[in-house]
Amino acid sequence: MAKTIIAGPCSVESREQLRDVTAVLSRMPQVTLIRAGVWKPRTRPGGFEGLGEPALQWMHELALEYGVRYCCEVARPEHVELCQRHGIDTVWLGARTTANPFMVEEICEALKGSGMSVLVKNPVCPDARLWLGAIERLRQAGVANITAVHRGFSMYNNQGYRNAPLWEIPMELRHEMPDVPMLCDPSHIGGSRELVEPIALAARLLDYDGLMVEVHPHPADAWTDGSQQLSPDEFNTLLDKYLNTPAPADDSLSQRLTPLRQQIDDIDHSLLTLLARRMALSRQIADIKRELHSPVYQSARWADVLADRLQLASDLGLDTDFTREMLEKIHGESVRVQLG
Ligand code: PEP
Ligand code: MN
Repeated sequence: MAKTIIAGPCSVESREQLRDVTAVLSRMPQVTLIRAGVWKPRTRPGGFEGLGEPALQWMHELALEYGVRYCCEVARPEHVELCQRHGIDTVWLGARTTANPFMVEEICEALKGSGMSVLVKNPVCPDARLWLGAIERLRQAGVANITAVHRGFSMYNNQGYRNAPLWEIPMELRHEMPDVPMLCDPSHIGGSRELVEPIALAARLLDYDGLMVEVHPHPADAWTDGSQQLSPDEFNTLLDKYLNTPAPADDSLSQRLTPLRQQIDDIDHSLLTLLARRMALSRQIADIKRELHSPVYQSARWADVLADRLQLASDLGLDTDFTREMLEKIHGESVRVQLG
């Protein structure tokens, strides 16, 4: 399937800047849509908040002149009407909006009957249900063409990214809504130019349907998100690598995968059987603790268990953070079971 490629500046800064970037992108046939922010959600007040309607006017004129289509973020119902008035048929809900069902509802009301296509960025917080909910609300409002955009999640520990990718959350969305195309926004996940390519290529390996990438004619001078925007040349190089990654050769690959997948299936079954046995033991322990009037949670025992398992995991070459998280989950469930 052909990939959807959306590219363009974080924000419209002037007619010249928009024209420069449009001139280059219009010569790249792989680019499906040009993105350009007109209303910018700033985390703190005082920054550049977008040029608003005059920028839409330029987009209207340049769309006709260069034969391109633009999309931009809408954060209020009025934005939808202004976009429509200026010939923009595709808009996106930003991460802060997707996290706010009241605002999604108001925007859906404005979108009713508009025929517009809508891109839905993941919510800022790592909650797949808010993302699903925004898409469901759009569907209820009759929006037919909906695409999800994975732009990462705001976390206390962002693991070196601007927004932690948490790939399992978009995977959950794809599982729940397999018919909704999924794009990756490596610019807002990475937050820096160097990270854009590895993230985009990871999305390619995960079979995403395309990319939304920030491209600026002169990234060093950008008014917003300067450190993550690519120059047109850098974008060209990225696109080459992204689009020329060979598609998987289905037959031969699946033949080699089958025996390995069979082993994975067997191991998963064993893991679950062992977990069930572990929980059954927890229940027996709970009964004894009750008779002894002994507390369910015993911090010294838990510290010993954790230290022992982390040592074993390290000897086996397993990642420490992963092991700790998994053990905490199992222990949490064991405590829940013991509390009855
Ligand atoms: C953007 O695309 O420029 C933007 C502000 O996105 P997000 O909502 O993902 O932060
Ligand atoms: Mn941006």
